[in-house]
Amino acid sequence: MIYLDHHATTPPSQAVIDAMAAVMAGTWANASSKHGPGQAASRVLAGARSVVAQALGCKPAEVVFTSGATEANHLAVRGLLAAAPEGRRRVLFSAVEHAGHLKLARELMNAGVPVDFIPVRPDGALDLDAATRLIRDDVALVSLMAANNETGALMPVPEVAALAAAAGARLHVDATQWIGKRPFRFTDFGADAVSFSAHKFNGPKGVGALLLRQGVAIRPTVPGPQERGRRGGTENLPAIAGLATALYALGTPADLDAEAARQAALRDRLEGALMAALPELRIWCAGVPRLPGVSFLRVGRWEADVLLQRLERLGFAASSGAACSSSGNAPSHVLTAMGVPEDEALGAVRLSLGRTTTDADIDALIAALPTLRSLLPAAEA
Ligand code: PMP
Repeated sequence: MIYLDHHATTPPSQAVIDAMAAVMAGTWANASSKHGPGQAASRVLAGARSVVAQALGCKPAEVVFTSGATEANHLAVRGLLAAAPEGRRRVLFSAVEHAGHLKLARELMNAGVPVDFIPVRPDGALDLDAATRLIRDDVALVSLMAANNETGALMPVPEVAALAAAAGARLHVDATQWIGKRPFRFTDFGADAVSFSAHKFNGPKGVGALLLRQGVAIRPTVPGPQERGRRGGTENLPAIAGLATALYALGTPADLDAEAARQAALRDRLEGALMAALPELRIWCAGVPRLPGVSFLRVGRWEADVLLQRLERLGFAASSGAACSSSGNAPSHVLTAMGVPEDEALGAVRLSLGRTTTDADIDALIAALPTLRSLLPAAEA
């Protein structure tokens, strides 16, 4: 099976598996214990934290390990809102945040918190005029993703950071799809808080972090003594070691740029072949800056499930968008926010490449396109 669903998750590298196994076997003690084994675990934790800080351009004390991006997003939004000054109750989300994050937005609304959504334009870019109108002095925080998990569209973080700073609002950025794919330095990013998950860059699942700028007040969602009182619970040391190993393996910003260029070239070659081979191909967000390895598309009037089943039969695993929302048959909220009609959005298929995707993988998909076309129900095209 050729795996083309790297925005959902990525395979853990062997170095990550080895690092986790070593910690599970050798440093399993509680990092808060005062005895020798506990102190050994505490040193592993401190080592992982400084690797993360070094890789992401922040201070070790600014790293709060969590169970992943979902929890980090909750901590940022609930925690920054609870610590916001009087008179700042409003929370802004972009309309295309991760489906799980928008559930949190709705929960806040149900609890009486004023929430507004910053729309996107039909091309998938954030509507900066609307952002300028909405970011006012009653806003506690703005929660914006760095890059969209479905379309790959990049969001204007520096511009929104400037608007938030001018209005005195906090900025939280969900960088889950950005970190690991594009160079990142917390000090240059302009956000007060940044979330990410290790499994998007060949690390383990169930671990991530919130980077929280020093001096920014937050109320913990899970109180406890660990993580300097910002996230309670015995640290998942094997997973944290796996996260640090995966981040370290990403290399320098130049290495990240080279990998991004490699994936973009593969993606562009694939899109060219798809356009030549399949009727009425529509690729979303191809006209705006987007992540290098993703193609979000629709073929004629074929439903996503039909296309995905045929692809799977030919040996390719892809998805119809976010793994978390692909269980139902609802159209993608990202496409709906772009104004794409529901019947068109129901055809959306996401092909996402990763570090383990090879030239040969893309050659194989291109070679399978004539067969794919013959397998698809002609009447629907
Ligand atoms: N935000 C974005 C943009 C994502 O793509 C994902 C994962 N699909 C998440 C948050 C949630 O990450 P996790 O499931 O690891 O908590």
